[in-house]
Amino acid sequence: MTSSDGLPPLRAVIAEHGLAARRALGQNFLLDLNLTARIARLAGDLAGCDVLEVGPGPGGLTRALLAAGARHVLAVEKDARCLPALEQIAARWPGRLSVLHADALAAGDPLARLTPPVRIVANLPYNIGTELLVRWLTPDAWPPAWTSLTLMFQKEVAERIVARPGTKAYGRLAVLAQWRCDARIVMTLPPEAFTPPPKVHSAVVHLVALPAPRHPADPAVLSRVVAAAFNQRRKMLRSSLKGLAPDIGDRLLSAGIDPTSRAEEVSIAQFAALAREIAA
Ligand code: SAM
Repeated sequence: MTSSDGLPPLRAVIAEHGLAARRALGQNFLLDLNLTARIARLAGDLAGCDVLEVGPGPGGLTRALLAAGARHVLAVEKDARCLPALEQIAARWPGRLSVLHADALAAGDPLARLTPPVRIVANLPYNIGTELLVRWLTPDAWPPAWTSLTLMFQKEVAERIVARPGTKAYGRLAVLAQWRCDARIVMTLPPEAFTPPPKVHSAVVHLVALPAPRHPADPAVLSRVVAAAFNQRRKMLRSSLKGLAPDIGDRLLSAGIDPTSRAEEVSIAQFAALAREIAA
């Protein structure tokens, strides 16, 4: 039996190549090709785009990205056991899939191998998802080498990325993501959607890079301000930020922030204004 792309169903691929899931590699596979097709659609129009995928595993999402018309997919996979299955997919779509056998955290800059426009789409291993996201959100220059990120996270992490001020989930990740991107949760999935099921619910976040930051600020200064503010999120800002400037109370007032407020209550526009005040 074959699937609509002419390749074997994913359960057969897993059996053929002995791909029993390994917890240490964050392996929770999506075996329903309708679901992977939906995720590929949520990434936007892939025709004419190169796609970076981290952690293709047996290739369910990879197949969906190719079937959705991606010009080229570069898939970075750490587990050598998955390579033969990925080779079969590459043979089905000649010249359109490259596989890099590497640890995505140590693979240099795979984006440099791709031609814009580039979209990043991945069902990420949960243990490295946040670190990769932060790297993609903090390139040396903006706009970044990618147009959009469509990424699966543990649901709590997804909620932190899209969180609004005044909520418990609002923190560094929300400011970092929303300062220069539009970020939305576009799908939530129960544990049973995966094989084996993880302990947590999951969600897909779609981030679109803005051409320029929402509010002007030096990225390094903004990052220092936000880190200091949320490191002691229960404290008043005049106290948590006092290491940043001797006259922090005045600077907060100039930025339009009440010095007795707490990090959670401060909007991204206000954090950017404070970073400008501190840089001045
Ligand atoms: N994309 C597949 C799917 O949706 O079924 C697999 C997703 S699974 C959650 C995560 C994948 O990332 C696994 O294939 C795992 O081997 C791979 N992986 C784990 N750590 C990695 C790393 N540091 N670099 C690259 N791939 C990694």
